[in-house]
Amino acid sequence: PPLQAPFDPEKKTIVILGSGWGSTSLLKSIDTDLYNVVVVSPRNYFLFTPLLPSCTVGTVDIRSIVEPTRFITRHKTREVKVFEAECTEIDPVNKTVTIADNSEIKGSVNTSTIPYDYLVIGVGATNQTFGIKGVQEHALFLKEVWDAQKIRTRLMDCIETAGFPEQAPEEIDRLLHMIVVGGGPTGVEYAAELHDFLVEDLTTWYPELAGKLKITLIEALPNVLPAFSKQLIDYTEASFKEQNITIHTKTMVKEVHDKDITIQQADGSLAKMPYGLLVWATGNTSRPVVRNLMSKFPATQKVGRGLVVDDWMRMEGSDDIYAIGDASASKYAPTAQVASQQGKYLARLFSQLALRDHLEQDIAAMTNEEEKQSKLRRLAKVRNVKPFHYSHQGSLAYIGSDKAIADLPWGSGNVASGGVATYVFWRSVYLSNLFSLRNRSLVATDWIKKNVLGRDISRE
Ligand code: FAD
Ligand code: NAD
Repeated sequence: PPLQAPFDPEKKTIVILGSGWGSTSLLKSIDTDLYNVVVVSPRNYFLFTPLLPSCTVGTVDIRSIVEPTRFITRHKTREVKVFEAECTEIDPVNKTVTIADNSEIKGSVNTSTIPYDYLVIGVGATNQTFGIKGVQEHALFLKEVWDAQKIRTRLMDCIETAGFPEQAPEEIDRLLHMIVVGGGPTGVEYAAELHDFLVEDLTTWYPELAGKLKITLIEALPNVLPAFSKQLIDYTEASFKEQNITIHTKTMVKEVHDKDITIQQADGSLAKMPYGLLVWATGNTSRPVVRNLMSKFPATQKVGRGLVVDDWMRMEGSDDIYAIGDASASKYAPTAQVASQQGKYLARLFSQLALRDHLEQDIAAMTNEEEKQSKLRRLAKVRNVKPFHYSHQGSLAYIGSDKAIADLPWGSGNVASGGVATYVFWRSVYLSNLFSLRNRSLVATDWIKKNVLGRDISRE
């Protein structure tokens, strides 16, 4: 069997899939004295996604916003098994997961099967492309560390190629046209970072090209940032106009080719738009392993965007599978805030389940009726697990030129603010929310370095 000592056969085993916001938050809080815990994730680290857009232009270094999963598990009271592998299949009947080593280096064994008593699915989501032709082949996404690295390399490649001797003027224009598809927070924050890089660094190092670089944001709806309040949407759109970021709203991308995209404009007409770099940020859809699991629960799992769960994060149709974060489909938005609160909640829920099991065992062995009644009353309380309650702390987004926007809950209403002061607030919130002192000091140093020395423009 793959699970050897220090596994305690007396304890139930929780298998946690993923090392993102939801799973890491669960891992931080879970009591390992109560369970055997196994983590399976294709990346052996946690990634602080809110600062990922900053990595695409080198405002912040990637190493500053990741934290190895083993840095977290080493603080637990009992050993947690961490496997760098992808879960390829979930078998809810035999209660096992199949895992595969999908890294470049292969050993003699590349797949394994792990049994679970409880399974927590925190695998996040993948990029939504709506099946639009050419997106997978030609566009770049912004979800993982390697996405940010690819964007940074492609950006510098476009600029250097545009500067090649005797480059045709229309080719220079194409290479220096950066298109962002999707006006949600990811697309907006990426466009903002790109703008800062252009103004603060490219004008110094590529003065002959900087004036020719164009940023275009394409959004299918009538405005960007649909989840933010109206005044912040207007503020962002006005601010983008000032920063020469062109927004095309009510515009749909119909097809993507290697050097241009076909768009459908608000009046229904089609047009071609040449590009050098295309970043695709049109939201989430569920991962293949989740889709595969859904197909095994046709009666209860019919929502494409994720696993339907009850108020206790338990997957509908199953007693022992839980889903959190972007892998789940609930009334909450797919955000880090929601995922981390759900992870923390599950840690409490599992403690209560362990206590329940313990009491049930005790009661079964009891002969004294009075003691039994008292334990039964306790058991009734323990069985009454409170449902998950989400506490919204507000929404923040960076919009370029040292400005940010914030929608913050206030009493029963909301306070909206935007500008440089909000950016100072944005920075302090992210700095304090970063995972560790190590991350905090690295990010603070990166910000100072950028202000004093500028960004590094070398191609990776
Ligand atoms: P993730 O954090 O995506 O983690 C998924 C984990 O599962 C990863 O470790 C992955 O490697 C692993 N995995 C994938 N496939 C498998 C598999 N088959 N088997 C096992 N493991 C697997 N939200 C906010 O609230 N505020 C923000 O400012 C913010 N900024 C963002 C900026 C960007 C650029 C992006 C992309 C997202 C941002 N979000 C933000 C959204 C937030 O990152 C997500 O909602 C959050 O990451 C969801 O957490 P999760 O644990 O469900 O998934
Ligand atoms: P999103 O779903 O929030 O936005 C995607 C946008 O793309 C939508 O506005 C949609 O109308 C548009 N779109 C879809 N298809 C299109 C097409 N064919 N052509 C043009 N536009 C199209 O996606 P996201 O921005 O990646 O965010 C995902 C989740 O992560 C959200 O819940 C978001 O709140 C969260 N997030 C939060 C922050 C933050 O708080 N600062 C930052 C990034 C992401």
